[in-house]
Amino acid sequence: MGDLLSSLNSVLGKTGLLTDQAAIAPHLTDWRGEWHGRAQAIARPATTDEAAETIKLCRAAHVPLTLQGGNTGLVGGSVPDQNKAGILLQTQRLNGPQIVDASEATLTVGAGTPLATAEALAAGEDLRIGLRLGSEGTAQIGGLIATNAGGSHAMRFGMMRAQVLGIEAVLPDGTIYPNAGGLRKNNFGPDMSHLFIGSEGAFGLITAATIALHPRPAATATALLALSDLTALPQLVRLAKSFGPAVERIEFMSKSGIVLAQKYVSSVQVPFAQTPDWSVLIELTGHHAEETNAQLLSLFEAALEAGHVTDGHLASSLSQAEAFWLLREALVDGQRLHGPQIKHDVAVPISQLAVFIEQTTAALVADQPDLVINPFGHAGDGNVHFNISTGTGHNRARITQIVYDHVRRHQGSLAAEHGIGRLKGKLLRDGLSEAADHLIFGLRRHLDPDGLFNPHILPISSPEAL
Ligand SMILES: Cc1cc2nc3c(=O)[nH]c(=O)nc-3n(C[C@H](O)[C@H](O)[C@H](O)COP(=O)(O)OP(=O)(O)OC[C@H]3O[C@@H](n4cnc5c(N)ncnc54)[C@H](O)[C@@H]3O)c2cc1C
Repeated sequence: MGDLLSSLNSVLGKTGLLTDQAAIAPHLTDWRGEWHGRAQAIARPATTDEAAETIKLCRAAHVPLTLQGGNTGLVGGSVPDQNKAGILLQTQRLNGPQIVDASEATLTVGAGTPLATAEALAAGEDLRIGLRLGSEGTAQIGGLIATNAGGSHAMRFGMMRAQVLGIEAVLPDGTIYPNAGGLRKNNFGPDMSHLFIGSEGAFGLITAATIALHPRPAATATALLALSDLTALPQLVRLAKSFGPAVERIEFMSKSGIVLAQKYVSSVQVPFAQTPDWSVLIELTGHHAEETNAQLLSLFEAALEAGHVTDGHLASSLSQAEAFWLLREALVDGQRLHGPQIKHDVAVPISQLAVFIEQTTAALVADQPDLVINPFGHAGDGNVHFNISTGTGHNRARITQIVYDHVRRHQGSLAAEHGIGRLKGKLLRDGLSEAADHLIFGLRRHLDPDGLFNPHILPISSPEAL
């Protein structure tokens, strides 16, 4: 290790290598505070060449290397192993280049660029990135691509995979995979850059990327609606989607979540005289304010007429729209401040949303009383954050088993947008087809025979080791 640290020091210099354990410690715990690891040093390369050299040196020294972006991941993927201290590679200094090409509507940035910074660059040319999420001030472009992040705009623009036009990466042996650029059409052989998207750093370190940009809308209209009944949710989503791409976000919230948000987040305001059992937040965008507001009003009227909603508030100002979104964001903080909880990031077909939530809730209540069940999420793409507050005496493993059994029964996914990380490695391995197992782990072994590169992600060891 001593030889490795001195070689890394000569590649990265003083600012690029952290060996003081007190300075390293805050980076060894994940955002949720559930995973803790160890590291001998933190490497912070500032260029792709420095990153490639760091990776080569760790491999030659047979030392595990963990990749960390903004460390906002929710499945423990960005935290190194507890058992064997290796090197933690952080990407925040990989923040160049920063090129907006307004005529091609593309942005080429270093992997360490936070999403909010990338968005500000795009905004400078009156363009935007088709991705928004609560962690955008800290989550980085590399991490967002590595996790194939979703967020509230995924129904309009797709997940991160749909935004990426080119990737530069370093393979686990230190070879640099070049960025093929920002062409919209490029069928010159298989596009291997897709290998890195959603792989959580299993196949290489993303060092830079070119992503597609979209025009900024001139007008935005927001409504908070009271659902007549949960069973109306899929129908409301269908109705909203019939208004075309102007509908950008459809989020749903439960009464139990709103009650927690009101209790713990003082700035939260609920405009309804009586909080409905289920509420939906809808956002439309367009070129003209009057036209966009009129479109939202006709969507609201159509939903009322069809009996999908019973009441609603159309934001009359930007600050009222912001207050509606604050309520949605406060669902997370409200539940966190309430106490211990179990988060399940799952997806089901949109048509199954209501029946899935109702059946799962009934099964949970029958099995374990006094749970605070707070399903909310991105209704426009079937993504449910099935979060549950627990108390002493609750069987947490059994709660998760009930939720996952119902997800499977409704042909859903056990990982909608947060990925696999440490949390779901065994689940993935158990559910893979033989062909998928062969492809994923065959490739993993080929690129990293000793299993030292981001070793806890899709580990090549047996599932029992997970
Ligand atoms: C408040 C909050 C709200 C959130 N909302 C959403 C949401 O709406 N939708 C959503 O999808 N997620 C959401 N997340 C989760 C998280 O922000 C995303 O998963 C994000 O993409 C992680 O980016 P990061 O830079 O923090 O990556 P990290 O957490 O540092 O890393 C995530 C994984 O990617 C790997 N990795 C990181 N950088 C690279 C790289 N350059 N190359 C290769 N591998 C790399 C890591 O090893 C790890 O396995 C939220 C998180 C928080 C805290």
